[in-house]
Amino acid sequence: MKLASTIRTIPDFPKPGIMFRDITTLLGDAQAFTLAVDELVGAFAGTDIDKVACIEARGFILGGAVAHILGAGVVPLRKKGKLPHDRISSAYQLEYGMDIIEMHTDAIESGERVLLIDDLIATGGTAMAGIDLLKRGGAEIVGAAFVIDLPDLGGARRLEAVGIKVVSLVG
Ligand code: 5GP
Repeated sequence: MKLASTIRTIPDFPKPGIMFRDITTLLGDAQAFTLAVDELVGAFAGTDIDKVACIEARGFILGGAVAHILGAGVVPLRKKGKLPHDRISSAYQLEYGMDIIEMHTDAIESGERVLLIDDLIATGGTAMAGIDLLKRGGAEIVGAAFVIDLPDLGGARRLEAVGIKVVSLVG
């Protein structure tokens, strides 16, 4: 099965000019969802991973499944104002606008090995903000994995430039 064929593109969402890759069709296809999760896990076979950090909101769906298979904990990286306990924040530029993500200060123990998961990397701004939070929290980042990479926007190269292993399933 080709994962790419289970993802649809919606023109002009959420703003005119944006071609939005909609993964709800992949998520709703049992075979495709299983394959995507298995491929994300397989890319880190043999790697010690304590926690999977995932980015709100689509990253949660994939990250939870990946963490369950790895036997790892889950660290939600959430939009500003959603986490109830002491937290750190990181601001970033989106493909469309600015945003802030946050992490609980006690989410990571120093030296824990963490895999970052999101559905898609475009400019890499969101993932870099996640990496910033994880590093400030004391994590050792083992890599970052995405279902989709939009390579023309350079996000994967941005992460690789700071020494992060990047995996994506659909280019
Ligand atoms: P970046 O920060 O790399 O430019 O954008 C990636 C972030 O925005 C991810 O959290 C991703 O969920 C979201 N995103 C941006 N464009 C798209 C898109 O076309 N489809 C989906 N599913 N998410 C997108």
